[in-house]
Amino acid sequence: MPYPHAAAGGAVRPHRPLLESRTVTALLDVQDLVKDYRDAAGAPLRAVDGVSFTLAPGEVLGIVGESGCGKSTLGRMLMRLVEPTSGRILVDGSDLTKLGGRALKRERRQLQMVFQDPYGSLNPRHKVGTIIGEPLVIHGIPNRRERVAELLDLVGLPREAVDRYPHEFSGGQRQRIAIARALALEPKVIIADEPVSALDVSIQSQIINLITDLRARLGLSMIFISHDLSVIRHVSDRIGVMYLGRMVEIAPTAALFAAPRHPYTGALLSAIPRPPSRDGTPQRTRRIFLKGELPDPTNPPPGCVFHTRCPVAVERCREIVPRLDPIGADGQRAACLRADEMPGILDAPTRPETAVAT
Ligand code: SF4
Repeated sequence: MPYPHAAAGGAVRPHRPLLESRTVTALLDVQDLVKDYRDAAGAPLRAVDGVSFTLAPGEVLGIVGESGCGKSTLGRMLMRLVEPTSGRILVDGSDLTKLGGRALKRERRQLQMVFQDPYGSLNPRHKVGTIIGEPLVIHGIPNRRERVAELLDLVGLPREAVDRYPHEFSGGQRQRIAIARALALEPKVIIADEPVSALDVSIQSQIINLITDLRARLGLSMIFISHDLSVIRHVSDRIGVMYLGRMVEIAPTAALFAAPRHPYTGALLSAIPRPPSRDGTPQRTRRIFLKGELPDPTNPPPGCVFHTRCPVAVERCREIVPRLDPIGADGQRAACLRADEMPGILDAPTRPETAVAT
């Protein structure tokens, strides 16, 4: 498969510098993307609020956040399955939001999606060969049978699967079928929306390993969306953290885990169990519990949208909207007024004279 960033002989690619600014050519360049909806009562709500990021060739960017943070809407907007309200989506320099008709169809094949539900995303009336080969038929690509056989090999399924139906396969095998279909057109970017969260934990690791293997062999570029940081860390070069429609932190995976610069990231990290140290001693992390629930998106808090739940919020957080500014090395960015005090302040209680009264 002629992916331009694949390592020769299927070897794991050497470390390469990650994209840190738009001075390097981005494969995907998302600029100030916004999605407005109305809820059932007609109240306006902003599901995605000014999200910007880049994806370098061969890079995997994880997007994490709790349910309702806008990460799935973001993924669907990148495919234009959901129309953006405003913003730009540049794929190799071409703005997907400006295209329609044939031009959109041609450019959209550069992006393919793997959905959460391997049961619902495959047509139960079609054989696996038809499902995987469908994108090839739509785009008039010849040698369909050979290509489908090659794709089945790639995802570790037997070639006989072509004549069987989705219900004859387990959840993990169905997700392999969905991945094969997504790879059929050799897209530039795969967008995987919670690709393992509907699977048993034992099967999750098999699919994660498959994605890691495909990435090394094909040089895939990917947006990997999940609510689970412990899953995302295994596949991502960088991680973006979303809260209430906004990107609140983005950083290389190692930097994010070593020193989160946003309290929300710190809280997510504190919930991940740590493996025992080499001598078997259990490692403990102080768990950071957040107050309350995700705010009503039709009535978001003023100032920093996280201030109603933030364990280290101070008065100015109620008024000032923090920007996603650079902090530290490695291209780490955080939207927090106290980012330069992080992560140390998470270990100390907020001084009572400055803390926000709730
Ligand atoms: S700006 Fe204030 S409320 Fe928002 S995350 Fe930072 S400390 Fe917390």
